[in-house]
Amino acid sequence: MKSADIAIVGAGPAGLAAAGEAVDHGLSVVLMDDNSQPGGQYFRQLPRQFSGGDRPELLFKALDHPRLHYLPDCVVWNAPDPGVLAYAAREDSGRIRADAIVIAAGATDRPLPFPGWTLPGVITAGGSQNMIKGQAVRPGERVVVAGNGPLLLVAAVTLLDAGATVRAVVEAAPFQRRAWSRLASLSWSPSLLAQALSWRLRLAATGVSFLTGQTLIEAHGATALEAVSIAPIDRHGGVDRASATTLDADCLVVGNGLAPAVELTRLAGCAHHHDPLLGGWTPRRSADLETTIPGLYAVGDGAAIGGVHLALAEGRAAVLAALLRRSPSAFLRRRRRGLTRRLDRLNRFRAALAEIFAPPETFLELITPGTPVCRCENVTLAELDACAADGATGMVQQKSTTRLSMGRCQGRFCLATLADLVAARRGIEVADLDWPRIRPPSRPVRLGDLLRETVPPPALPEDPHLPRTS
Ligand SMILES: Cc1cc2nc3c(=O)[nH]c(=O)nc-3n(C[C@H](O)[C@H](O)[C@H](O)COP(=O)(O)OP(=O)(O)OC[C@H]3O[C@@H](n4cnc5c(N)ncnc54)[C@H](O)[C@@H]3O)c2cc1C
Repeated sequence: MKSADIAIVGAGPAGLAAAGEAVDHGLSVVLMDDNSQPGGQYFRQLPRQFSGGDRPELLFKALDHPRLHYLPDCVVWNAPDPGVLAYAAREDSGRIRADAIVIAAGATDRPLPFPGWTLPGVITAGGSQNMIKGQAVRPGERVVVAGNGPLLLVAAVTLLDAGATVRAVVEAAPFQRRAWSRLASLSWSPSLLAQALSWRLRLAATGVSFLTGQTLIEAHGATALEAVSIAPIDRHGGVDRASATTLDADCLVVGNGLAPAVELTRLAGCAHHHDPLLGGWTPRRSADLETTIPGLYAVGDGAAIGGVHLALAEGRAAVLAALLRRSPSAFLRRRRRGLTRRLDRLNRFRAALAEIFAPPETFLELITPGTPVCRCENVTLAELDACAADGATGMVQQKSTTRLSMGRCQGRFCLATLADLVAARRGIEVADLDWPRIRPPSRPVRLGDLLRETVPPPALPEDPHLPRTS
């Protein structure tokens, strides 16, 4: 078994910031990420053939430090015991024991089903970002960006940078009206506010329509996307289908916010709570960002959706908390005070943003009986309703009856929707539902990599029918 002072899962902004802080203070670090390149979702920079920025060298410098062991292409697939992680990589697979563990696992897109959402040409906002920034692929030529949340603006600007024509950005929240009333809270982070305004101005300067209080209702096309229907949301939160309009497009980028990747914190046995403003299920954390398992910290989007700046600050703060526990010093305490002030400002900004973009609860209305809710196993709303009519009204029963969430995505794309459907039908809160139990591996892992781990043979009980050897 390997050992280190700190084991970090995720080499995105939060994980890299944690790693930098740890090596700067003399700790040994193992940093694992399932991608072949470090940087996570945010620091996939635009390739040179589009317009692009530089990666922040200071953040990546920790990777060259002799006290840091970086494992790319490495899936951390379980948290079997306190202080222990199980990992599987191309070079080496096994277990790591660490005094402190920082989980910086990031988030996943939260796709919502609507008629036509599985057509080729319909992709998520995060997927669009990854295609452009990670693979230099423009997802379409005439693109509609629709859904809810600040990632829509980011996705639209990245598409423009990549040379696509953005037909419209369709935001479900009455964003503009709410933004004015919360301007004071948004000024907790003037630089982020200025960035958001610059994106908005960029759309205006390029002639992109920014429609608020409207929702997409259907994606049309025979074998691939050809058009998108959108409709206003009325003042009671209902969809005004009579006023629907259709935009022709060969690509629809849909963003409906992100959900924290909580597989590992769940496997580790941390307590979680449900907060829609933080992205759904999130691990409970102390002011030190420690989960309910001592020595296990959760940071960045994997703990609560907050964006890159919060992820960077939380990564550093978690390591400082672990360091202060080992050797409290005035210098560390001063540094932590500074970071705490920054976290406080960023958290206020996050809260204001979450309120501004709080989505109207219209999306369940969009799912028709024939719409697949689980695309991996092709389970439609009609099948879920039939299952409920037979008495299987809980999430666990619906999962085991229909196979929803048992495909490759393991529920990352459909379980939250099932929870909303079940809660709405039973008239209870999502937080009060029993979720299906989680089992390892936390995400898909290559069998060959798993087999690289040398596992001692299990101690079997002695067979009374065999002749005694001693
Ligand atoms: C698909 C997608 C695209 C996004 N694109 C943008 C964007 O372009 N601009 C923007 O402002 N925001 C973007 N975001 C939001 C972005 O996630 C955050 O603002 C920021 O990157 C959060 O940093 P983080 O370190 O918390 O997580 P991330 O940057 O997501 O990093 C987490 C890392 O941990 C790895 N990981 C997770 N679980 C495991 C495991 N079990 N084993 C090994 N490795 C693991 C992930 O693969 C990832 O590399 C995107 C989000 C998503 C989901």
